[in-house]
Amino acid sequence: MKEGIKKLIVWADKQPPNSIELTYKQIADKFGIHHSSVGRILNKLGIKTIVKPGPKPTIKLFCNHGHEYAVVERDKRGNCKECERLRSKKYKEEHKAELKIKNKKYNDKIRERRLKYNNEHKKERQEYIKIWRGENTEALKEYSRQYRREHPALYKLGRLKYRTNLNLRIVSWGQDGIYEFYEKCPVDMTVDHIIPLQGDLVSGLHVSWNLQYLTPSANSKKRNKINLMDATKLYEKILRKAGLK
Ligand SMILES: [Zn+2]
Repeated sequence: MKEGIKKLIVWADKQPPNSIELTYKQIADKFGIHHSSVGRILNKLGIKTIVKPGPKPTIKLFCNHGHEYAVVERDKRGNCKECERLRSKKYKEEHKAELKIKNKKYNDKIRERRLKYNNEHKKERQEYIKIWRGENTEALKEYSRQYRREHPALYKLGRLKYRTNLNLRIVSWGQDGIYEFYEKCPVDMTVDHIIPLQGDLVSGLHVSWNLQYLTPSANSKKRNKINLMDATKLYEKILRKAGLK
């Protein structure tokens, strides 16, 4: 066996996999053998992954801005990807306001299209949702339980809003501090509307100064039965609470 080939075998055996980036030709030159032998020997040794035949190191291609194609790659059109990225970034910065309007228009269009679709396919969608809910009852229940556990105050508020929206007892003012009031409710108390939201004779509003803490038993005794005499007294209480009396 040729001396060069022996040396190659010894050398190649010591190389960790994928560690060398030399062509067969370069290896052949290193050991003074013909390059056609290199692949054959390495294959025999079962270490064919050791060599990464690639473009010769001397031939490097660059874009006009000095980015090496082997590193940055080219896009579908064959342009330098890095240059395209920079160009797009610059364009976005220079046309910020314009693009914002354009994007908004686009988003609005999509939203309109979706609403239109939903409207036109109302029946199918309802049917689909019904089926989906039927198939996912347990998951939905668990989700609702979890939400209730994690956000007790929000849950109560949500339920209340759901019930009373129908009666328009929620107004845009007087909402400050309502969430905190619910959140700070002592464990053994409930949040009560001083003037009930759906009283028999008078109805109160869901506003911060119409709230008080009551024990559950006192609350259930009170129910929604408030007469006009009571209401007058209660309004006085509210006015005092709101600092108007
Ligand atoms: Zn470039």
